[in-house]
Amino acid sequence: MANTIKKIGVLTSGGDAPGMNAAIRAVVRACSFYNVDCVGVYRGYQGLMEGDFEELNARSVRNIINKGGTFLKSARSMEFKTVEGRKRAYEQLTKNNIDALVVIGGDGTFTGGVYFSKEFDLPIVGIPATIDNDISGTDFTLGYDTALNTVVDAIDKIRDTASSHNRLFFIEVMGRDAGDIALNSGIGAGAEEILIPEEDEGVERMLESLRKSKMSGKLSSIIVVAEGEKSGKNIFQLAEYVEEHLEDYDIRVSVLGHIQRGGRPSCFDRVLASKLGVGAVEALLDGDSKVMIGLNHQHVVRVPLTVAINGEAKYDKELRRVADITSV
Ligand code: ATP
Repeated sequence: MANTIKKIGVLTSGGDAPGMNAAIRAVVRACSFYNVDCVGVYRGYQGLMEGDFEELNARSVRNIINKGGTFLKSARSMEFKTVEGRKRAYEQLTKNNIDALVVIGGDGTFTGGVYFSKEFDLPIVGIPATIDNDISGTDFTLGYDTALNTVVDAIDKIRDTASSHNRLFFIEVMGRDAGDIALNSGIGAGAEEILIPEEDEGVERMLESLRKSKMSGKLSSIIVVAEGEKSGKNIFQLAEYVEEHLEDYDIRVSVLGHIQRGGRPSCFDRVLASKLGVGAVEALLDGDSKVMIGLNHQHVVRVPLTVAINGEAKYDKELRRVADITSV
């Protein structure tokens, strides 16, 4: 490896996701392995502009692989969206002899990283971390698998009460633009119907499916709704609409909310974080920049950040087919 980089900074930015701590740990330990100094930047780009830094070594990141959230904290910074803000951040980096950055976050974090890298010729590598799995160029983002397991666990519990009272439950899960959480948790938890942002089937399809399932002898049902689905109704309005059009249903609504972001990362997310963290440091030491480290069919890959930001994250249509078949 052509190594001109002596000190790497690492930060977490945007919405937090389980596995961020494991990724920080992997970055710090890879730096240690390759004899490169590592600096933790607190509160994302906001802390970068303020010089909120701490030198980290392999021992600084003990006992965090199993923890949710991010010990470096995350933030959203309006000031970093301005050239002046990014200049302030660059001054902090030069003052502290930091040669390169690993940024852990979603597409906003990557967009900021691309501007920053171009303006100041600074090597930057991104690690995708967001529970929505809505970044293209990687099969998985950090936190997604953990969130899925949290959602399935919650739906299992709701199912117990649904089946005890012959109820129909509407359950809202996260996913403004991507239906991955809804589709996968819906199949995994045996939902009757799944509404996602990528499809606009209208609520009639759902009504029809509920009528059919009632006739086939189903006594209780679960409908999983991604928060960004396209019916134009919020989940409470959806429930009211169904109540008006279908008799004999005792309907309840449950919005899972922020529990989906928390909790101990799954083993999958810990391993993914470790692979991506090591991959990020190795990419920087190879002289790469403006790339995201992602996973493609089990392989760690380097994808241009512009592709990660602008590409369309596609949902798996086969999952819809399987969901329809297994919910008859
Ligand atoms: P999530 O998917 O959880 O929302 P994210 O990384 O997309 O994560 P954002 O809040 O969109 O979260 O972005 C994080 C930070 O990145 C912003 O607070 C801002 O500091 C920086 N950022 C976002 N967009 C830009 C931009 N266009 N130019 C410069 N910086 C940006």
